[in-house]
Amino acid sequence: MTETGAPQDSPGSGLTLIHPRYLVAVRPQGVVLEEYSVAIEQGMIVSIMSRSESAQAYPQAESIELAEHVLLPGFINAHTHTPMTLLRGYADDMDLDVWLREHIWPAEQEFVGPAFVADGARLAIAEMFRAGTTCFNDMYFFPDVLGEVCREVGIRARIGVPLIETQNAWASDIDSYFEQGLKLHEDWRSEPLLNITFSPHAPYSVSDETLRRVAAYSQELDVPVHLHLLETKWDIKHSLQHHDVHPLVRLKNLDLLNSRLLAVHMTQLSAGDIDQLAQSGVHVIHCPQSNLKLASGICPLDSLLEAGVNVALGTDGAASNNDLDLLSEAQTAALLAKGISGNAQAVDAFQALEMMTINGAKALGLESLTGSIEVGKAADLCAIDLSCPETQPLYHVVSQVIYAASRRQVSDVWVSGRRVLDSGQLTTIDLKEVTGKASQWQSRLSGFGNRKNPA
Ligand SMILES: [Zn+2]
Repeated sequence: MTETGAPQDSPGSGLTLIHPRYLVAVRPQGVVLEEYSVAIEQGMIVSIMSRSESAQAYPQAESIELAEHVLLPGFINAHTHTPMTLLRGYADDMDLDVWLREHIWPAEQEFVGPAFVADGARLAIAEMFRAGTTCFNDMYFFPDVLGEVCREVGIRARIGVPLIETQNAWASDIDSYFEQGLKLHEDWRSEPLLNITFSPHAPYSVSDETLRRVAAYSQELDVPVHLHLLETKWDIKHSLQHHDVHPLVRLKNLDLLNSRLLAVHMTQLSAGDIDQLAQSGVHVIHCPQSNLKLASGICPLDSLLEAGVNVALGTDGAASNNDLDLLSEAQTAALLAKGISGNAQAVDAFQALEMMTINGAKALGLESLTGSIEVGKAADLCAIDLSCPETQPLYHVVSQVIYAASRRQVSDVWVSGRRVLDSGQLTTIDLKEVTGKASQWQSRLSGFGNRKNPA
């Protein structure tokens, strides 16, 4: 396979050639190439060709050798709350309701501000870069501050404008949330790596009036809506009690059940619900480890994929996971789907890889830019070293990535052509400073409220 997109008169100067042992571009589906090279220039993928062809085509290019590696599209974390990384391990081993209302929300009320958000986000992005993630979809307060951090360290992000009917340090009322969110949408129009989503927290914490405004703005501006939905059984009970209808009926009545909706969790689905999601084009964001840890329920991944629903993967926040590791999330998703369905063929290794790459890009509306290694897309890439004993022998590259490799084998990461992880070293984040700040927050948060220390 040879694809050319390089300028005819280019001798290759200013161009970088990456030579991995294996290339899994995700598109075309299921293909593993050996001894192929990827040419990148000005942040974009300009050519994919055999190694011998690339040497002739670009004799002046800078070369990066990845002799024992597989090159993959950068991973996309389709649901997280990056600043909450500062609450990793803060309250464990309890139900969602107790965890949220008695521990997380009180701590957030006390501590969340610009410094918390910036320090938590830098820590999260350091972790994500080291795990191969090049793009994430976030929901948290102070999205403006988060955007600044993303710009500074060079990661692609969809950043949620949070919407909830309670005031906090970022916004005093719902009008202020919308006003600041719309300003961000304007401010980031020319940002290459940043876009907003509207992120109402959940149907149970947001009014009909707010959801109506979200639906109208989402349609008018063509911006996705990012929402926790059907996380537990309680969500349905609450909706029936307060709105007389199932949450999906309520969302449909409010014009939100469409292809701009990113529905996170979805552990309580009937066969009829799944048909409705498939027909309406809703994207489901599956967060298996958070759902398992909070005992929320299990998203019927196999049935959703079977019905043709686009399902992407998210870690959720580090406070309920407790890491931001998409490789382990993909492994959990594949194993859980097999166990639940009683079908070992459910969610194969390549489908799991799609969920953490191209499916995430589709859900976020970024499919033309990222999610696969194709000429004309941004150079969002990650390399995994497969020479370690943990991934030898090597019969099948994609199986090895999903079922055996760990994030510790991620060696190099590029976002839009910028090498943010170089042979295991972060190039845009000072790791010592980031972990030092985490330690300072630990001192401040320790002992606050009725925090439960795990045994
Ligand atoms: Zn969440």
